Formats: sequence, structure tokens, C-alpha cells
Amino acid sequence: MSKYWSPAINQLTPYVPGEQPKVDNLIKLNTNENPYPPSPKVAEAINNYPKDRLRLYCDPDATALKQSLADHFQLNYQNIFVGNGSDEVLALAFMAFFRQDKPLLLPETTYSFYDVYCNLYDIDYRQIPLTEQFEIDFSAYEQANGGIIFANPNAPTGRLTPLETIEALLQKNTESLVIVDEAYIDFGGTSAVELTRRYDNVLIIQTFSKSRSLAGLRIGFALGHEDLIAGLERVKNSFNSYPLDSIAIAGAVAALEDIEYFEKTTQKIIECREWSSHALEQLGFEVIPSKTNFVFTRHRSLSGAELMQYLRHNNLLVRHFSKPGIDNFLRITIGTFAEMNSLIETLKQHPNI
Ligand SMILES: *Cc1c(COP(=O)(O)O)cnc(C)c1O
Repeated sequence: MSKYWSPAINQLTPYVPGEQPKVDNLIKLNTNENPYPPSPKVAEAINNYPKDRLRLYCDPDATALKQSLADHFQLNYQNIFVGNGSDEVLALAFMAFFRQDKPLLLPETTYSFYDVYCNLYDIDYRQIPLTEQFEIDFSAYEQANGGIIFANPNAPTGRLTPLETIEALLQKNTESLVIVDEAYIDFGGTSAVELTRRYDNVLIIQTFSKSRSLAGLRIGFALGHEDLIAGLERVKNSFNSYPLDSIAIAGAVAALEDIEYFEKTTQKIIECREWSSHALEQLGFEVIPSKTNFVFTRHRSLSGAELMQYLRHNNLLVRHFSKPGIDNFLRITIGTFAEMNSLIETLKQHPNI
């Protein structure tokens, strides 16, 4: 606290990112990073970037990356927005679209940055409980609102909403924008990107942090109708003209072009997720069916907090949320087969498993 703070800053509860430990003997399964390095083409592009050009400002429009994304998704350049990680794209989108008279609707259990942005921008919001099967309860979204946001697949549950359900929502909810955060869509889901061609009330947000192994390079993007993108550009250019640096732009383009590497690594993670889910079930865990690079799971007799501590003690870092309703669950990132095998073997040695 400081008397120099703007008064509203006292009321903020900032997002707490997963731990990035300073020691390296830990198996890190707590922040949904990709266990595989980025495509070798990324290193090549970064190494080959002419360093004398760092003297100059980067391209404020990140034209090369937007054009690559447009080609990749078969959209027009005007349908693409890029930012410094999808967290930044989300922050700008909340500012651009959700400061309305009516409340924003979002799942009670979802990415916990959403309500942080609401508080930052003083956006009224209503959190809607998931069903008992941890699905998003879309029937409850049929009420007056100033916008809707959810992650698909949802986090931290890992559950995927089918495309037909999203399309039905767009047909009913025509007076406000629906944002679909597809941070994990590449691990077995079908993107709603095709809906952006037919509906002007949907914005898709994706990231290079998970499926393209580039969490540290900070690249996120949004896809949607050109009027939505123009709104984002207005906010972005009122805040920071250069959110993506020249090196990040070069690396991102290279990552996007290496489709073969992307498919190989995502496929390995999907296979390992299925293997890990099965192995956990054998040990008495309930595993919510996941289409992401993590599993959300609870043990039939041990508490989430206790298991997290036990794993931590054995150099395995997983994520636990002390939020009522999900506090017996662990969110475990899918690592390599060797890492997941260590997790399973460590769990087997627990006296009560
Ligand atoms: C990881 C994640 C993000 C943030 O991704 P960055 O691009 O690294 O900022 C956004 N939404 C969800 C649901 C995520 O899990």
C-alpha cells in the first residue's frame, strides 16, 4: 500500500501465475508448458535475424506474422490481431468489448485471469456454475448480458465443448460478443475459427505458448470479423504500438510454418495424455476427460493439497487450486513419457495409494 497509488489499485487482486522455480531438478508439470522445445526452425530464424536491425522499431503491425496467420487459417489479413501473449490480447479485448452496462457472463470455474481483468476495468460479471460433470452449462447463458467468455477446451477442467453447441450459442446470443479462448484447442479439439466467417459476434483467441512450445516468446492472436479486429487495434494503439518485438515476430512465423513438427509434438502429447489418464485411473484417480495438454484429476481418498505436497516433496510440481469445489483436484500438465512415468511411479509409492 502506498498513498501514491491510484485508489482503485487497493481493490485489485492480481492473477498469480504458476511457480517458475529457480532450481532445475524439478519435474515441472504446473503451468501447462510444452515439454518439447520449439521447432528448430524457430532457433534458426532467431539466429539469422539481422541484429543491427534491432536499432529500429519493430513493425507495429507485425505484418509478416499477421500474413502468415491469415494464410494458415485461410482468413483475410483484416481478420487477424496479434499481441504479446494471449493474456495481453485478452486484456485488450476485455477493454474493447466488455465494458458494457450489462454483466459479462463466464463459467465459475475457468481461466482465473478473466475475473482479474473484470476487476481491473470495473466490469460487472456473473459467474455461472459448471454442471456436475464439469461441463459449461450453456442453458444458463440465455440471459441479458454484455458479453460471454469461456475457454474451449475449458481450463482447468480440460473439457471440450462441441462446435455445434458454440454455434447454437452464437445464434441465440446476437446482441453481445462471445469470446472463445482456444489456448488448448490444438490438443484434440476442433477450432471455432470457421464460425468467424459466418458470425460477426464471435472472437477466437489462441496462443503460441502451449501447442507451439513458445511460452517464453510471448505471442497470442485473435481471429474474427474485421470490425472486431478494428476495435482491438484502436485499444492496442492507445496503449502500446509495439507489443511484439522483431525477434518474436521472426520466431512466430517460423513456428507457424513448421506444420510437420507441430503435428508430431502435439500428437506425442495427446498419446501421452491418454496413457497418463489411464495410469492415473488404475491408481484410484478420477480423471475428467481432457482435450488439452493437462489432466484435471482427484483421488478417491486423498486430498488435493496433501497430494500436491507429497509430489512437491518428491520434486514433482503440479498445480492445485484452493478454491472450494475444486480443491481436491490437481491440474497436471502432460510432460514427456519419461516425466509422466516418474509421476506415476512416485504416486505408486505413496503409502495410501
Ligand atoms: C495459458 C493460457 C492463456 C495465456 O497464454 P499466453 O499466450 O501465454 O499469455 C490464456 N488462456 C488460457 C485458458 C490459458 O490456459
